[in-house]
Amino acid sequence: MKEGIIRIENGRVEAPDRPVVLFIVGDGTGPDIWRAARPVFDAAVEKAYRGKRKIAWREVLAGEKAYRRTGSRLPAATISAVSKYGVAVKGPLTTPVAGGIRSLNVLLRRKFDLYACIRPVSHVPGAPSPVKNPGRLDVVIFRENTEDVYAGIEWKQGSPGARKAVEFLNSMGSSVRPDSGIGVKPVSREASQRLVRAAILYALKNRRKVVTLVHKGNIMKFTEGAFRDWGYEVARREFGDVTIAESELRGNRAGVVPDGMILLNDRIADSMFQQVLLRPEEYDVIATTNLNGDYLSDACAAQVGGLGMVPGANVGDTAAIFEAVHGTATKYAGKDMVNPSSLILSGAMMFDFIGWNEAARAIRAALARTVRNRTVTYDLHRQMKNATLLKCSVFGREIIKNMTSSASTLNYRLGTIGSTQ
Ligand code: NAP
Repeated sequence: MKEGIIRIENGRVEAPDRPVVLFIVGDGTGPDIWRAARPVFDAAVEKAYRGKRKIAWREVLAGEKAYRRTGSRLPAATISAVSKYGVAVKGPLTTPVAGGIRSLNVLLRRKFDLYACIRPVSHVPGAPSPVKNPGRLDVVIFRENTEDVYAGIEWKQGSPGARKAVEFLNSMGSSVRPDSGIGVKPVSREASQRLVRAAILYALKNRRKVVTLVHKGNIMKFTEGAFRDWGYEVARREFGDVTIAESELRGNRAGVVPDGMILLNDRIADSMFQQVLLRPEEYDVIATTNLNGDYLSDACAAQVGGLGMVPGANVGDTAAIFEAVHGTATKYAGKDMVNPSSLILSGAMMFDFIGWNEAARAIRAALARTVRNRTVTYDLHRQMKNATLLKCSVFGREIIKNMTSSASTLNYRLGTIGSTQ
């Protein structure tokens, strides 16, 4: 089988039978979770395609390993490999406290214009949770990934930039205290609309019923409020025949969404935190600005067992990076102890993305079976009764055992993203 490049064009993804997929091991516990996850990925492909398909894994360097070997935390070779091959799976990277780099993760997302940070959040049956019925939550969060606070325009209090900014703002009629630090939060029509478009397309492809725009438009009308307005605008303009706004339902339709249509509504961010706890089944696909999405996706993850149990992807029009959503958890590095589920489920998202849905399903079903069997890593173990504590690598092997020993058909899904099937 000859190696080939995954083609990503106009939202269509086509993978050859032996596609090159890049991997970045990551810092801290990155090597632990990667060692556990990669055999799971290969076993899933083998189970699904019996040798007819195979991933050609290729390592690229980033973070501390890159720095040690090349003197750069994000070498040019990594940038050009991601540009060429388009798809990568990534462990967590340390954010250096000093040294001018805001965050390697942010840098990667901006470099490849990975404008949608996608986090499907649903409960793996059996995983411990702080809520009574975690299975009620099944949402996919689309968080805008390039602007708002990620655009990162800030001036330190007392700096010439801050002084100038205060002077300018006050000359425009504001009354900003002279001893203020200043942060600017740009939100554009183009970036908002492409994010909402991606969320609606995802909902259509995955037969989801509701897309909710989350914003703080009651306070910040021209950024957060505009995000909501532009969201409705793109839905009306491009998806008018398949979406219906909540406002149109009040009145003549008696609140009933016509068959086959997606309900588009919006919620103010603070109220949304209460909604996902009190009425989780009313929410489905969520599209939101960067900072709201940051908070909301972690809060939702907590409901289904924490960051260790949810996957993440950063997706653009020409590249996609699938990554564990937690950080490097450095105190556990090398101890073969942490939970690799986030990276493993992110890999399953990658398989869906390239259209290898059977491999993705095999991973999710086997992981669910492993948790249901109460064979788990320390983080879940400490919250469960009568569970067996496994090392990170053994947990990975247990998943493989559960994959190959049965055709598990647990009712556990996370939907598909961008696949051609
Ligand atoms: P963190 O690495 O996520 O660790 C915080 C705590 O979360 C850990 O002490 C552990 O809790 C739990 N945890 C994290 N990963 C886990 C796993 N795989 N299995 C089980 N438990 C897990 O957060 P942090 O300490 O704030 O960040 C450390 C570094 O990671 C920073 O440099 C940060 O910038 C970076 N970071 C990178 C990414 C990324 O690359 N995408 C994301 C977030 C943070 P207990 O000790 O309570 O068990």
